[in-house]
Amino acid sequence: MICNKFLNASFLGAYGENNELFERLLNEFVRDHVYWRRNFHPLDRPPISSSAANEPEYLESVARMKDELHRLTARLKSSVPTYNPRYIGHMFSDLLLPGLLAQLITTLYNPNNISEDTAPATVDMELAAGDQLATMFGFATTKGQTPCAFGHITSGGTVANYEGLWLMQAVRYLPLAIQQASIETGIEVLAPWGEPLAKADSFQVVNLPADDILTMNDQVSHLAEPDKSRLIEAIQLNRYEHLGARQFFDKHTEIANGILIVPKNAHYSWAKAMRFMGLGEDNLWQVSCDTSMKLDINELELMLNAAQHQNRPVIGVIAVLGTTEFGTVDPVDGIVALREERRKIGQSFAIHVDAAWGGYLTSMFRAKDGSLLSHDEVKQECDHFPCDQMYGAFAALSKVDSITVDPHKLGFIPFGTGAFVVRDNRVSRLVMQKAAYIFGGEPDADDFRQLGQFIVEGSKPGAAAAAAFVTHNVLPLNADNFGRLCKLTVRNTELFYDKLMILRDKLASSVELRIPIVPESNLICIAFNPVNNHDIKVMNRFNQAFYEYIRPDLDTAMQANEFFGSSTILHTKKLTKSAFETLCGDIGVEPKQLQHSTTKGFEGQADGIFLIRHTLMNPWLSDEKNGDTYLDMYCAFIERTIAKMLKERSTDTW
Ligand SMILES: *Cc1c(COP(=O)(O)O)cnc(C)c1O
Repeated sequence: MICNKFLNASFLGAYGENNELFERLLNEFVRDHVYWRRNFHPLDRPPISSSAANEPEYLESVARMKDELHRLTARLKSSVPTYNPRYIGHMFSDLLLPGLLAQLITTLYNPNNISEDTAPATVDMELAAGDQLATMFGFATTKGQTPCAFGHITSGGTVANYEGLWLMQAVRYLPLAIQQASIETGIEVLAPWGEPLAKADSFQVVNLPADDILTMNDQVSHLAEPDKSRLIEAIQLNRYEHLGARQFFDKHTEIANGILIVPKNAHYSWAKAMRFMGLGEDNLWQVSCDTSMKLDINELELMLNAAQHQNRPVIGVIAVLGTTEFGTVDPVDGIVALREERRKIGQSFAIHVDAAWGGYLTSMFRAKDGSLLSHDEVKQECDHFPCDQMYGAFAALSKVDSITVDPHKLGFIPFGTGAFVVRDNRVSRLVMQKAAYIFGGEPDADDFRQLGQFIVEGSKPGAAAAAAFVTHNVLPLNADNFGRLCKLTVRNTELFYDKLMILRDKLASSVELRIPIVPESNLICIAFNPVNNHDIKVMNRFNQAFYEYIRPDLDTAMQANEFFGSSTILHTKKLTKSAFETLCGDIGVEPKQLQHSTTKGFEGQADGIFLIRHTLMNPWLSDEKNGDTYLDMYCAFIERTIAKMLKERSTDTW
């Protein structure tokens, strides 16, 4: 049992238990802010006079403001009660007070983190929060050394993924621009193997490892003038970012369209990113998943072979660390090892980890001094977590190129706070808007404070950066601090699993309780199948009917719900053929019942399994101080609801 006492002061609480603490701190810092205003030229005459408050227009404004604010909060009362332990639906929970307060307080100062000029304090905090995340992932952050990571806050995981794709593409196509520039200017640049780049095979050039590309790029800045300036200008004019796809590939007809490889369990933001960047969704290649809903490494290798045969550069391979639907973790270590293998046959690609959900789990793997804990150390207090594959994946994070992580998910920070981290900040310099900087010799450690020049977004809230930074300082990203909170969520999931196994036996005479994908972190998806039913459509309809009891009903008061869960669909088309067959056996339906469709949507209701999805973020789920735990109460609720459903209708009518 992991004690959650250390969190008692960290949340407002399901019942608002910490209201006095919250009000006191908020009040104190609001006053503190007002004094700060007053102390800026205190002898100035205040533009709003004290007597203004007695004027009718003033009173009218106040009345309108109050009315509208009351109307606002009245409407907000229909919000989903995500702070409560009865909420185990989507990826949110109560907010950590340090982050919430930091965000509210910072908003009073309204810093714009687009650059240090508009946010002298919070830009530094943003870069520091980026370093904190980078350190958690095992990236080096020593300024002036190579590689040195760069991390920053984004509006969310989607935008961080866009940035990942943008940078991967910039690196992948840069060597072709350098080669072309060298040909056009006659200025010699050497390929990593020591021969003139101008004479090299262009498919070999576009497949260079990122480190070699960046080193080659650095060499350009060491040339003597005037060659240096001439070459830099020619490179700029030949870059993909300058020419656009059509003109760029017109110059490199021997190279086919680049592709991005994602597992089929990936978030839909990747398909969106391909469309958004004009790369075309057709160039998004999707790798099937194995029985545990992870990228199948053999399938990935086949796909890499196909890309090689079709002269297609691989812009990047995405691994998901904590899938949105199941919380499972792709074999990051396997992908890193495969990349080593592929380099030997002249194929290289970036690896980006989409850890929007699972990124913060990495805090459980880090000792206070930043070193990686052993598997046994991480396992302490847990029954199963982390499985061997999972440990391997987290241990390999330091070797990937970039990572997306969402403080507004498992970081328990208000929405509008995602993050992007790149292992080698030279990559972000490549896309810098001010071209002169790109090859500007030794990077200045302060460069990134003009943040807007290096990232997807422009104006952005310093309050989000402050929330992440303050939270990471109160609960540092290691096993003893933030990691304990994560451990609690994982441990609660193990306890829930055990309770579900007991429930399964209790329900056995009426329904079968199935857990098709073994939970690995803090998400559990379940499905019920009435006994003797072998029709997948009936099973799906039964689970959809159960879901009606735990979904927010927008037309009735939230109090009418005892619990909140979410749902998802396990699409058979995401699985390899053998994984699909195993799954059919596991859930007890005939493979011909459950179609292994690769085209259709869920409309047919026979090409997927409707699942009840639970995200266990709330730290009070297994709290015993008031009798039954919330997990026990939820299991009892399931039992009651299923009994009611079966009483109302017989199985063959579902
Ligand atoms: C949530 C999520 C995203 C998208 O993040 P947003 O913050 O919603 O934009 C991307 N990838 C994964 C794996 C996610 O779980």
